[in-house]
Amino acid sequence: MTLKDLAGIAYKNRAKVPVQITVEEDRISILAYVDYDRFMQGKFEGLKKVEDFTYADSFERGVKRFWEKRYDLSYCGLGSCDVDVTFVRKGSPEYPQGQRCFKVRKARISKTSFVSSPPTRLFWGLFAYLSPESAMLNWSLKHPGTINMQKYKNPSGFMRVSAHEFGHVLGIGDAYEAHYRFFYKAPGTEDFMMYHNTCVQPQELMMVLRAHQTGRMQYFPIKFSLKRYMKGMKKMVSENRVFTRRQKKN
Ligand SMILES: [Zn+2]
Repeated sequence: MTLKDLAGIAYKNRAKVPVQITVEEDRISILAYVDYDRFMQGKFEGLKKVEDFTYADSFERGVKRFWEKRYDLSYCGLGSCDVDVTFVRKGSPEYPQGQRCFKVRKARISKTSFVSSPPTRLFWGLFAYLSPESAMLNWSLKHPGTINMQKYKNPSGFMRVSAHEFGHVLGIGDAYEAHYRFFYKAPGTEDFMMYHNTCVQPQELMMVLRAHQTGRMQYFPIKFSLKRYMKGMKKMVSENRVFTRRQKKN
């Protein structure tokens, strides 16, 4: 069994798929058609030394820094493989006519960065996936979601978050104890990109392949416990109160 046999990815209509994956013997190529808003096209603030370096540049650099490397897939009986990522920006000469893309824009309604589906796809994802995670991001090959990025002062932080959010657009869920995961942390994922933005693991890459093979978002294991849920909610509410109070002071 080779990686190519295993992946078996075939898109019916490539022009409708914003993020495409091609698997060769020992190489996985990710092609991403992207549309940046004005904020993303603007200069990265706080970087005095680098002229003309935009948030979009930083986003792409972050994705490449964390996703492009050699992956050891021996844990699932395969060899190793390389991953490369190519971005084609809407409006550039290379951008094919009629190609669908995904958007990256400034987050306006949240303190954190996140990926969301357009209003027409919100909430019914709950029924399609039976996962609370899918209420905001109802992922499909044709609608991988819009990335909403916060402004981070530190470029390396911005790059890490970019690589994490790109993971969602590729079709994988969160591993950390988010409220929509009932505050449950997927076991053994401390070093994962989808947990602490640490490092893309072979397991995460295989989940991405599976998402593109099946056309369905791949989630980390989730468990519900009422005790944990109540504790998590209590903590979240109290943290929110502290935040609002601090904001009022400013
Ligand atoms: Zn996430």
